[in-house]
Amino acid sequence: MKKIINEIKKLIIDCLFPNICGFCEENLEKNDYEFGLCQACFQKIEIFDFLSCGKCGARLPNNKKTCHQELKYILGSASTFKNEIIQKLIKGLKYQRAQHFSSIIAKTINIFIKKTKFNFENYLIVPIPIHKSKEKIRGFNQTELIGEYLSESLGLKMIKDCLVKSKNTKSQTETENHEERAKNIKNSFLVKEIEKITNQNIILLDDVSTSGSTLMEASIVLKNAGAKNIVALVLARA
Ligand SMILES: [Zn+2]
Ligand SMILES: [Zn+2]
Repeated sequence: MKKIINEIKKLIIDCLFPNICGFCEENLEKNDYEFGLCQACFQKIEIFDFLSCGKCGARLPNNKKTCHQELKYILGSASTFKNEIIQKLIKGLKYQRAQHFSSIIAKTINIFIKKTKFNFENYLIVPIPIHKSKEKIRGFNQTELIGEYLSESLGLKMIKDCLVKSKNTKSQTETENHEERAKNIKNSFLVKEIEKITNQNIILLDDVSTSGSTLMEASIVLKNAGAKNIVALVLARA
């Protein structure tokens, strides 16, 4: 009888937390439960080893900016949105409440950081905020979840409520083109406690960069608050 009850218990737990890969739906190894992705699928994610220009995408030699000097940040994109597993992770995290994907996204960004050999010592993590009303509906800010994992693994401090989204803009994915994106996001961020940003090196964290408008706008606001170097880190660029 006890055995049967245990079996039933196990069945219920398995139903609540389907321990299958979020992509290929194969059963997961125990070690991969927290990531929600199997090893075979994880291996299919191409992880880059270089930082790039946020404007033209050019690879930066020795992590130094050589073009588009006017841009306020350099871009660290761990992978590409062309990869279908990456697309699944982002969509799952944002719209299907697959919050556990934040750990596999952080793991990917972590490997990327090591590969770039960029020295992130003394950098602060600032996640791109979403508007309070959006956070209420979604229940969380997905970038913050990724930031929490990164903060722990890199031993860097994350500052959460300093950069805020003051204007409730429509989703960047609903905008038609580059110009509309830039217009949509304009003047929508502000820095609340400037002293936390002044003279600091910042990792500006987002899940994905499409046109770069969001990162551009946020980095202008951070620079105006006295930020030193800004590296925008994303899982993928489109
Ligand atoms: Zn899989
Ligand atoms: Zn460039």
